[in-house]
Amino acid sequence: MSEMPLCVREYLRDNVTERFFPACLEVDYQHRLLAKFGDVDFYHLNQLSLGCELEEHLPWLIGMNFTGDAIVLPLLRVADGRCCNIHLLPATRSSFYLLLLDASLEHDNIEVYQQKSNEVQLLNTRLKKVLAELNQAQHELREKNQQIAQVSLLKSQFIANISHEFRTPLTSILGYIEMFEQNKIGDAELGQMLTAIGAGAQHVLSLVDNVLDYARFEAGELSANAHSCHLDRLFADICAIFLPLATDKKLNFVFSCEPQCLAYVKVDAVRLRQVVINLCANAIKYTDKGEVALAVSLDDELLRIKISDTGAGIPVAAQERIFLPFRRLDRDRLSRGAGLGLAITQQILEMLGGGLTLDSKPGVGSVFRVTIPVQRQQQTDHTVSGSAYKLLVAEDDPDARNIMQLYLQSAGYSVEFVNDGRAAVETALKTKPDLILMDMFMPVLDGISATVQLRSEGFMAPIIMLSAAVSRSDKTHAMNAGCDGYLQKPLKSDMLLAELAQYLQQKHE
Ligand code: ADP
Repeated sequence: MSEMPLCVREYLRDNVTERFFPACLEVDYQHRLLAKFGDVDFYHLNQLSLGCELEEHLPWLIGMNFTGDAIVLPLLRVADGRCCNIHLLPATRSSFYLLLLDASLEHDNIEVYQQKSNEVQLLNTRLKKVLAELNQAQHELREKNQQIAQVSLLKSQFIANISHEFRTPLTSILGYIEMFEQNKIGDAELGQMLTAIGAGAQHVLSLVDNVLDYARFEAGELSANAHSCHLDRLFADICAIFLPLATDKKLNFVFSCEPQCLAYVKVDAVRLRQVVINLCANAIKYTDKGEVALAVSLDDELLRIKISDTGAGIPVAAQERIFLPFRRLDRDRLSRGAGLGLAITQQILEMLGGGLTLDSKPGVGSVFRVTIPVQRQQQTDHTVSGSAYKLLVAEDDPDARNIMQLYLQSAGYSVEFVNDGRAAVETALKTKPDLILMDMFMPVLDGISATVQLRSEGFMAPIIMLSAAVSRSDKTHAMNAGCDGYLQKPLKSDMLLAELAQYLQQKHE
């Protein structure tokens, strides 16, 4: 290789000197200092005296053997902590040179680089985290969108189903009534017609109950209302609904009730009825041949109800899903049903502190087992002797008045009817009835205002508010106005009579 031109060599020498502050120490193999050259001041090594042991000042020399070949020790610190690259070069047979070249700039650059690379790493980690969060949010959004689409689909299916559900029994009820009005029903068919109308009406009612309960449950307003009720009678009523339906499908309806059930218990009878009706209705609906059995037993204070059928059964994979609202098995799409029965049943049982299990085999049948805690009651007859009591009913709807007249008079009560709240106040203050059944929404003066007036006039007898309103706040409103009880319309005979008995008996206790 040819030598650099002199001016270039001089230029390089000047620049290297300017930039690297070269200093050189001649050292023997025992690491003693023999001579100093160049800018030793820069490295604060000028105080080293010749012959001194260098390892004391430059500890990285310890254990180092110079082999004779030039080597570079990068980025080492010298006495004052300055950072330099150290080149080891041969000098004489017994010594070598330590050439020190300042590396502060290189060292600072490396530190800046490392700092930057740490920051980049940190940013990368943050970026990864943000990306993961973004992914998760996108995933959740996609799931939410799917749920919304699913809910919207279910809602459309629900509306289509429910309209069909209402239309079918109502068409048959209206058809029978039309035939009756046109005198096309003979005496012999009258009973059959009434049974069919009753069954249709019952179906519509349980449908309305289920839909309203679902809304109440969603609004957190489903609440239990325990009364004294006679178990045997309650189940006899239920059998009366299902026997004709089962017979219509040529199914055996087997009812068994252990003797302990001939008892009064305190339970929310309306909800208990609704649970059993939902499960029995399903058992009959999804069974084409064989039998449906309803078995009841009372184990201390635990009511056990078993509803079994020899129907289509439910595949294991679907046994959880069918308890979700609006979920039905594909195979049953063409049959009547809104897909709410089991969801409501489960919610009611949760509210009553009860339980529900399902045991089902496709092609063999299904067994639903219900448990509900109840309180045993004294064997008193809660259908109090009506004749001893005088009732006032404030109700503006003629149909509701007729049905109440039927229920109350058949229980022996003497009943006076008025059409509005003002008449209720005037009559009650004059005739002093033992109890008032007060409709909530009436012309002239509503039931709440009438109750407030009566209480302010010192009227003490029980007042039970009747309302078709679903909201819990209406009940609270009525109780705050001074009512003793609250009954939800449509009224059922056993529920009405049990409520009356409760307040009239209390009056005499
Ligand atoms: P619905 O009967 O109105 O469809 P449910 O919530 O009561 O709604 O029932 C949900 C689904 O569970 C039904 O559509 C039906 O597919 C299935 N199922 C319920 N009870 C039975 C039963 N006893 N036998 C067979 N399948 C049943």
